[in-house]
Amino acid sequence: MIVNKHRPLSPATFVPPDLARPAVRLATSGEAALLNSTTAAAAEKMFAAAAADGVIITLASGYRSFTTQRATYGSYVNSRGQAEADTASARPGYSEHQTGWAFDIGDGSGADAFTPQFKDRPAAIWAKANAHRFGFVVRYPWMLHEITGYFYEPWHLRFVGKEAAADMRARGIGTLEQYFGLEAAPAYL
Ligand SMILES: [Zn+2]
Repeated sequence: MIVNKHRPLSPATFVPPDLARPAVRLATSGEAALLNSTTAAAAEKMFAAAAADGVIITLASGYRSFTTQRATYGSYVNSRGQAEADTASARPGYSEHQTGWAFDIGDGSGADAFTPQFKDRPAAIWAKANAHRFGFVVRYPWMLHEITGYFYEPWHLRFVGKEAAADMRARGIGTLEQYFGLEAAPAYL
């Protein structure tokens, strides 16, 4: 399931049938602490491996329902207008967080969450080097926003399976759009 600014969820109100709460360190609660069962199991393995390397990763934001996304996006539109809202928040039905396959990580220190500086935190450095071993990719890499539609998010990981993640890394392919031969999705249609 590939979701981007050209490819909304279908139906827009899709809910993963197997939402589960991973046994990892949480920096969130409620629905945002949930992932689909496959992603939750892989996250548990990855967070444990990071901890064994002395790096504490937290789950900062996982599943996000259509209703929550609609409220979040709507408040951005109300305060800043639609053009700016579209740079800050996915439209409802277009967030990868709604799939259950994606989540945001935090650093054990709590520092630099959701900021560009997060890339230099141990959690981000560890994830960039190791996430593929557990089937994850950094979904919105540096300088590939013309393809993904999102500026660099060193905190946003997407489960694609170990095989695809390792293959993408070995071939130097940064985005799922390129890997699966999909059109670039820099903006909404
Ligand atoms: Zn995210």
